[in-house]
Amino acid sequence: MRVLAPCAAVLGALAASGCAAFGSPSAASTTDHRTFAAERGHGTSPGPGAGRSSSPATTRPLAGKIVGVDPGHNGLNYTDPAYIDRQIWNGREWENCNTTGTATASGYTEARFNFNVATYLAADLRAQGAKVVLTRHNNHGIGPCVNRRAQIIDHSGADVAIDIHADSGPSWGRGFAVLEPVADGPNDKIIAPALRFGRYVHSAFLQYTPLRPSDYYGHNGYIFRNNLAGLNLTTVPEVLIECSNMANSADAALLTSPSVQRKIAQALDAAIVRFLTGRWPSRSGG
Ligand SMILES: [Zn+2]
Repeated sequence: MRVLAPCAAVLGALAASGCAAFGSPSAASTTDHRTFAAERGHGTSPGPGAGRSSSPATTRPLAGKIVGVDPGHNGLNYTDPAYIDRQIWNGREWENCNTTGTATASGYTEARFNFNVATYLAADLRAQGAKVVLTRHNNHGIGPCVNRRAQIIDHSGADVAIDIHADSGPSWGRGFAVLEPVADGPNDKIIAPALRFGRYVHSAFLQYTPLRPSDYYGHNGYIFRNNLAGLNLTTVPEVLIECSNMANSADAALLTSPSVQRKIAQALDAAIVRFLTGRWPSRSGG
C-alpha cells in the first residue's frame, strides 16, 4: 500500500525536494560511507560530560522554562487524506497540512516512534522543572497541520522547541540528521540560536545514543531546509531531528527499541538543558 509517504522526513508536499537530494544510491554509497567513517564521532562542541555538576542548583535546571515538543505526523493521518492534503502556506510556498509519516518494513510507524520519544522527553523535561507544550497529545488523532504546530509553539512563549521525526531514506543509508532553518523573515531572529541548539542536539546524539550522523542526507548529520513550515514559521529557536532511517533494517531495529527511544529522549533533554542553562546536565546512570 502506498499509504505511507515515501519521504516522510519532510513535513509535506515538499518532501520531493528533500528526497531528490539523495541522488543515486548506488553512485553515492561508496563515497558517503567513506565520509561517514571518517567523520564518525567527530564533534565540534564540548561533549555533554563537560560541565557536569552535582550541585543542588542543577536538580531542576529548567524551572521557569517552556519547551515546545512536536512529535511529527499523527497515528490516524492515513485515514483522512483530504484533511492532511489540504494546502497550507509554509512561509515560502504551499505544502500539505501534514503527511502520514513513514514506517519500518515490519510496519512500526514513524508517528508512533515520534510520539514515544516525545512522551519520554516530556517526562524528563518536567522532572527538571520545565513546562512542556506538545503539539499533539496522543497517537490516535489526525493532524494538526504543520503551520498550526508552529503556531502552538509560537503562542506558548516557548524558549526552545524540537520537531521529532524519523526518516525514510534509501535502504542502504543510515543515521541521524539535524534539519536547520534558513532565514525567511518570520524566523530571522532565531537562526543563530537555532544553529547553536542544533549543534547541541548533534553532540548529545553522539554522546547518548548508538545513532551516528547520516551517511546519505546532508553533511555530517546537518542539513539546511528552507521549505518546511515548522522551521520557517516557528519564531523560537527550533530544529527538526530525523532520528535515523526507518527504511534501513539496522536503524529500524534501533529506532523501535524502547531503550533507544529513551536514549534519544535523554539526548534531546541534554541538548535542551545545555541550550537553556549553558551547562550540560549531570548524567545519572547513563
Ligand atoms: Zn516525519
